[in-house]
Amino acid sequence: MCGIVGFTGEHQAAPILLDGLSKLEYRGYDSAGIAIRDGSADAEIIKAKGRLKVLAEKTNDGESVKGTCGIGHTRWATHGGVTDVNAHPHRVGKVVLIHNGIIENYRQIVTEYGLADQLVSETDSEVVAALLNKFYEGDPVKAIKKTVKVLSGAFALCIMFQDIPDTIYAIRNVSPMVATSCERGSVIASDLTALIEFS
Ligand code: GLU
Repeated sequence: MCGIVGFTGEHQAAPILLDGLSKLEYRGYDSAGIAIRDGSADAEIIKAKGRLKVLAEKTNDGESVKGTCGIGHTRWATHGGVTDVNAHPHRVGKVVLIHNGIIENYRQIVTEYGLADQLVSETDSEVVAALLNKFYEGDPVKAIKKTVKVLSGAFALCIMFQDIPDTIYAIRNVSPMVATSCERGSVIASDLTALIEFS
């Protein structure tokens, strides 16, 4: 199991994501990463194998990455070794994505949709980002629906699209995810422990 946290709202996202991920550490993980958006600027992605502490040090506890919308992930590798490149988030074209779970048919998807030259990691998750990017023509919900019809396996996905600032899209099948919102913003996570301070 890994951990997923997303936040969009009125506060800096990176410290909130790091704090949320620390509450999910008990689930186990081997690497961690965050993607933060500052308005319409491209997402900044920072990731590192090893403890969350490494990511916190790389980002000065989140202070050095500005933006009020972002997604964060702790990975428990199932496909691909434990490396910085294989850590999430993954970016392909306009899509930045984190994934919890296993995509069983990812190899078939790569072949069927000709995605191999777009992939830099060994993960099943990056294949989902590449497929979403292929299907994306300006309507995120349409692209997400088309993508999940192709996937077999368990997944919780949080997605940001380059041309849609301040917005996180999420969808799940089997893998858990919970969300809430308050005056500080909206938050989504793998489980309630990361949401308690927003309730
Ligand atoms: N299957 C994905 C990977 O190996 C996600 C694993 C997870 O749930 O952390 O990167």
